[in-house]
Amino acid sequence: MTHTLSTPRPEPLCGMDTWMPLPAQVTAVDQENFNTWTFTTEFVDEEIRNIYRFAPGQFNMLYVPGVGEAAFSVSSDPARPDTLAHTVRRVGSVTRALERIEPGGVVGLRGPFGHGWPMDEMQGRDVVIVAGGIGIAPLRPVVYALLQNPHYCKRLVLLYGCRTPADRVYADELEAWEDNDAIEVLVTVDNADRDWTGPVGVVTNLMRRVKVAAQETIVLVCGPKVLNRVAAWSFLQLHVPPEQVFVSLERNMNCGFARCGHCQYGGKFVCSDGPVFRFSEIASIFAKEDI
Ligand SMILES: Cc1cc2nc3c(=O)[nH]c(=O)nc-3n(C[C@H](O)[C@H](O)[C@H](O)COP(=O)(O)OP(=O)(O)OC[C@H]3O[C@@H](n4cnc5c(N)ncnc54)[C@H](O)[C@@H]3O)c2cc1C
Repeated sequence: MTHTLSTPRPEPLCGMDTWMPLPAQVTAVDQENFNTWTFTTEFVDEEIRNIYRFAPGQFNMLYVPGVGEAAFSVSSDPARPDTLAHTVRRVGSVTRALERIEPGGVVGLRGPFGHGWPMDEMQGRDVVIVAGGIGIAPLRPVVYALLQNPHYCKRLVLLYGCRTPADRVYADELEAWEDNDAIEVLVTVDNADRDWTGPVGVVTNLMRRVKVAAQETIVLVCGPKVLNRVAAWSFLQLHVPPEQVFVSLERNMNCGFARCGHCQYGGKFVCSDGPVFRFSEIASIFAKEDI
């Protein structure tokens, strides 16, 4: 199956109740770096497995029984919605509990939630992806979808930065993409080791190495707050229209469907209005450091 790039946004598939997680079995756990793992899961119920769909950039709520629930972007191939991957960085109670789950274990999953990346707007244009650290997770489905449809966009560029070479998420895949003519990949690290021969410095430095046709370009950004801010502003300075710059945001989240108010962002909810926002829609909120 290949991902149809302009399908309508999949709606949550959570049984009768949007709060109700559905059992999903962990089928593989891959360690990405010292604190990050990719969990592959399959819904236990075959019917659910067959009808679940997600769009690149959407997220699920993963529930660890007895511990709690948190939001995680789907990081797998949208053309294979029967096997869902989430890439999880250990920060607190839920992620620590997930870390202890082995293949065969069962988690609760509800979703998909939110608005993802604007796949339909990428047609015939240049797409520049800027990701930092684990921020590459919600962008990986975009890369999969565009590589499966190589003539859909004119050009695909991935600029990725992380602290050290050992911190790279999807390191093997990044190396494979570097050899793929359908995508230009530039990876930078803040601190190199002896074996690192690539660029050193913050990811926005990589922008100098890429010629951007401003009016033709769609920019997708996901990373730590400071990266989102600097990358978005830098592309605006290169005259990319703010309507063509998209940023995926993270806020503390509870329900996932705009009921609890936890993820309020100015007058918006990250869970239902986002997590991917068009920069022009959030520019005024974005300008306020503390929000
Ligand atoms: C739409 C969306 C998609 C996400 N996708 C991923 C993903 O693909 N992989 C991943 O590892 N994480 C992702 N996250 C973040 C993840 O949901 C949080 O880190 C979550 O709180 C982890 O739960 P916990 O119980 O382990 O940590 P907690 O006990 O909730 O928190 C531990 C620490 O992290 C801080 N923190 C928690 N949540 C956030 C947040 N959203 N932003 C900034 N700081 C926070 C807390 O203040 C605390 O200091 C996503 C969040 C959102 C909203």
